[in-house]
Amino acid sequence: MTTKGRTITIVGGGLGGLTAAIACAEGGASVVLHEAHKRVGGRGRATASALHLAHDGAHVFYADGPHYQWLKKRGLVKGLGWPSPLAFSHVRFRVDGQLRTAPPSGVLRAQSRGWLKAPVDEDFHSWASKRWGEETARRLASMIAVTTYDADTGRLSAAFVWNLIQRVYGPRVPAVRWVKGGWQTVLDRMERRAADLGVRIETGSRVDTLPEDGPLIIATQLASAGRLLGEESLSWTSGHCALLDIAVRTDRKDRTIVFDLDEGAFHESYTMQDDSIAPPGESLFQLQMPVRPGERNQETHGRLRAFADQVLPGWADRVTFERTATAKGRTGALDLPGQTWRDRPAIDRGDGVYLVGDMVAAPGMRGEIAINSAVAAAHLATSATSRSQTIRTNH
Ligand SMILES: Cc1cc2nc3c(=O)[nH]c(=O)nc-3n(C[C@H](O)[C@H](O)[C@H](O)COP(=O)(O)OP(=O)(O)OC[C@H]3O[C@@H](n4cnc5c(N)ncnc54)[C@H](O)[C@@H]3O)c2cc1C
Repeated sequence: MTTKGRTITIVGGGLGGLTAAIACAEGGASVVLHEAHKRVGGRGRATASALHLAHDGAHVFYADGPHYQWLKKRGLVKGLGWPSPLAFSHVRFRVDGQLRTAPPSGVLRAQSRGWLKAPVDEDFHSWASKRWGEETARRLASMIAVTTYDADTGRLSAAFVWNLIQRVYGPRVPAVRWVKGGWQTVLDRMERRAADLGVRIETGSRVDTLPEDGPLIIATQLASAGRLLGEESLSWTSGHCALLDIAVRTDRKDRTIVFDLDEGAFHESYTMQDDSIAPPGESLFQLQMPVRPGERNQETHGRLRAFADQVLPGWADRVTFERTATAKGRTGALDLPGQTWRDRPAIDRGDGVYLVGDMVAAPGMRGEIAINSAVAAAHLATSATSRSQTIRTNH
């Protein structure tokens, strides 16, 4: 690969590819982005039925990291929605099969120890069990499975899991943000901004062989990137969970958010912060249940439906929209003991090729990793083009 051309080629038009395209164009490079699908957005897309808008993947941001500042500075995350106090009063925690208004005191005590540093090399379950006992360790791991989508979060690096717990449950004012219209709105804005900056976006354009001229940014899922690079071994740990999107005629008994400390499930209302995404009088929810090792998807979906029965009583008689899915390896990087984000597949592959995505060597969780890696890759790629430009000018 040579970096003699000034055009940066980007493969993949999800959150990572679009971030990279904008950052490269802002850095003065000419950019062409190839997206295999007929629409950009990747896992950030939302599926609009005639009346309901359900997310394929991402739907919230945390406002406490550089990814959010990057989006905010460009006006990409304006128009936030916020649940009403009534909606917050319907938040519950499932513990030993019962819905409660707060987690058990042992969990509250543990989660308030924000100053503790957890080790990278030890698994979370062992580390937390020594401090607070096995039961609390198990409950903490299940409570944070909302971000890991993993049935055995306790086996992951203690430092990784503890950091997630502190980000999600530590602050007095939650850092979570919802954009009205979901990530689809953000992606639409990103697409417009990229086009305004002169990025050429080719949709329906699958790249099977890498171009000779670089720089090149590969912003596909990690497995596809491995195939393109001829590095089939490129992989990282990620979550596996069953998903259920449902809209129901609204009932006052419906829970808005439920964190499940038993099985690591999670239930969330989308309409509590944005009532434009379902018809009047209806509420739209997504529920998730991590798939246990060796468990058949059908069994996980059965456990997920039982969870739905508990948090939305009588939902089957009120349902107006339903969609099921299973997400495997699609929810971002998980670090095992001994690993940090720095050990994930490197962004700089050498020879003018850069890797972007939610399982590469950049900080953050889930979609944040894609954004952070894209900004870093864009910086490297634009530096490479301006270096080669200087060399040519000097000749
Ligand atoms: C159920 C679920 C819930 C989630 N919730 C959240 C959340 O709340 N918050 C959060 O931060 N993250 C969340 N995530 C994770 C988030 O969706 C992803 O991390 C993020 O969307 C990844 O973006 P990306 O650009 O790296 O990859 P993708 O979105 O997968 O984009 C890759 C793109 O590359 C294209 N492509 C692939 N191969 C080629 C090729 N050969 N040529 C051209 N194009 C190609 C694909 O079509 C795709 O559009 C969730 C994910 C799931 C599945």
